[in-house]
Amino acid sequence: MDNEMTPNEEAELFGEDFNTTNSIDVPELLIDQVIGQDHAVEVVKKAASQRRHVMMIGTPGTGKSMLAKAMAELLPKEELEDIMTYPNLEDNNNPKIREVPAGKGREIVLAHKMESRKKAQSRNMLMMFLVFGIVMYSFYVGQLLWGIIAAIMILMLTRQFMPKEEMMIPKLIVSNYQKDHAPYIDATGTHAGALLGDVRHDPFQSGGLETPSHDRVESGDIHKSHKGVLFIDEINTLKLESQQSLLTALQEKEYAITGQSERSSGALVKTEPVPCDFIMVAAGNLDAMEKMHPALRSRIKGYGYEVFMRDSMEDTLENRKTLVRFVAQEVARDGHIPSFDKDAVNEVIREARRRAGRKGHLTLKFRDLGGLIRVAGDIAHSENAEITTAKHVLAAKKIARSIEQQLADSYLERRKDYQLFTKVGAAVGRVNGLAVMGGDSGIVLPIMAEVTPTQSTGQGHVIATGMLKDIAKEAVQNVSAVIKNVTGENVINNDIHIQFIGTYEGVEGDSASISIATAVISAMENIPIDQTVAMTGSLSVRGDVLPIGGATYKIEAAAQAGIKKVIIPKSNEADVLIEENYRDMVEIIPVTTIAEVIEHSLVGEDKAGIIKKLRKLTEMNAIKMTES
Ligand code: ADP
Repeated sequence: MDNEMTPNEEAELFGEDFNTTNSIDVPELLIDQVIGQDHAVEVVKKAASQRRHVMMIGTPGTGKSMLAKAMAELLPKEELEDIMTYPNLEDNNNPKIREVPAGKGREIVLAHKMESRKKAQSRNMLMMFLVFGIVMYSFYVGQLLWGIIAAIMILMLTRQFMPKEEMMIPKLIVSNYQKDHAPYIDATGTHAGALLGDVRHDPFQSGGLETPSHDRVESGDIHKSHKGVLFIDEINTLKLESQQSLLTALQEKEYAITGQSERSSGALVKTEPVPCDFIMVAAGNLDAMEKMHPALRSRIKGYGYEVFMRDSMEDTLENRKTLVRFVAQEVARDGHIPSFDKDAVNEVIREARRRAGRKGHLTLKFRDLGGLIRVAGDIAHSENAEITTAKHVLAAKKIARSIEQQLADSYLERRKDYQLFTKVGAAVGRVNGLAVMGGDSGIVLPIMAEVTPTQSTGQGHVIATGMLKDIAKEAVQNVSAVIKNVTGENVINNDIHIQFIGTYEGVEGDSASISIATAVISAMENIPIDQTVAMTGSLSVRGDVLPIGGATYKIEAAAQAGIKKVIIPKSNEADVLIEENYRDMVEIIPVTTIAEVIEHSLVGEDKAGIIKKLRKLTEMNAIKMTES
């Protein structure tokens, strides 16, 4: 099972002129940097030209926000506008809203400020003359004290009643001054005020110290993304009221700003409608769609596109080349890490194949892969190396372990302490199963079976414990079908107890099926199971071993735990890409039927009869299949 690239492929992949990623061209436009999501790229281009909303569903880190950002780059910047608030002299609580071409807003505010400063200056001059005149005159007529009192009174009165120029200066609430492209605003996880705009509370509501209401208006993300892109990830976590408001904003393309906190003075204020003609890119994983406000979802459906993000791409030379570019892109984006040499890139590609967890595929979960590149680069940087090499990438792989992997390590140690699983000798009704935690780390999961005479009359029961979820429960039922075929009588008169050991987080999926079957058969027939073997595999009711997920991680976990042989479904054989250091530690045994599983895991001569029966079962089914 050699998954190394052949020398030929390697030469073809890297070409003649590539020594380090420094010489790889990184496309200028973000949309051209997106890798492996051709369909999404096409949709985004189309949506940008037609100003349609987009919903992206898929695994985190596959490029959703990147695509939204790329979309903003594609939008025409000529249409950008600045938005300003002006005082409303008729109704102070209803500030006016004006739009001006991008960049103009700043000029207007500056001009207003200059003018008000000038006016204030000339007013002050005038006052100075007046006060000086009064004082001089009173001195001349011998009434200096009265003159001074009069001057102070005049100063106070004008302060109170003269119009304040600075209060009339408009406020720029959305500025596109010197923007290279249309705005991209990420509103993931924002509260209503930040999303929809707000009016600040005014602690001094009178007495000449108050801030005019138009000056307290703050725009929301929906306004800041006017003529641009508003990106909201995990859209379902947005409060329903906010989703409702978002829908109104989408439909009306304008949304008045009002104070969001009910008891503040801001709640009295409501501006004229503020334009918010944005394109929405909503993102999330599959269940985001279910929990999303149905009206909002149907709005996007009706007036936009929905895209499903892929999480792996085929392992072709062409695609590997794009991965080389990905490394170059990430190095360029980071700006601080040294470029990668061929071997280092090769190691990253290897990891991309491993992480795909699927035969002949490369992962598209690029955020994590980018993380690995940065850690490798940081290690190289800390060693003052000019170039990041394979050695640095390998070191990074050890450090950049996910929380789940670290958790799995600590479980493993604890399990070893308490000897939850054994890896020597043989035992009846006890099997080392394998499971995956958090998507990318394996764990040894012991399963025990015990057969006891049934207490209920006539019918034996299958009782499984260990916090099994639905699919795992069904798997137990399916396994029972196979067992009934083999052991017949025993099932009727006995209860079968199946226990998953130490599964505090519950058991999902059906990849423990062959382990359950082995444990039960061993317990029923009283034939011991080889404890140096671990296994994973799903099982059909006819005894075929079916593929499972996470084969690589499971085998690595078994190797780490000191297991010598791992039984896996033959159909998963090509998914296996275990790390170099585990290769000599375990033997991998691919199987297609439960008979083979039993053959490799039970010890002693007694197993022959069972194997025969199991073979017959699958053979019979195979014949049935060909007949039909
Ligand atoms: P998501 O929004 O799907 O969670 P992001 O767009 O935030 O993922 O991706 C994080 C980073 O990973 C990006 O900034 C980019 O560097 C890299 N990345 C993710 N997907 C891709 C892709 N398809 N092509 C190139 N780089 C990607």
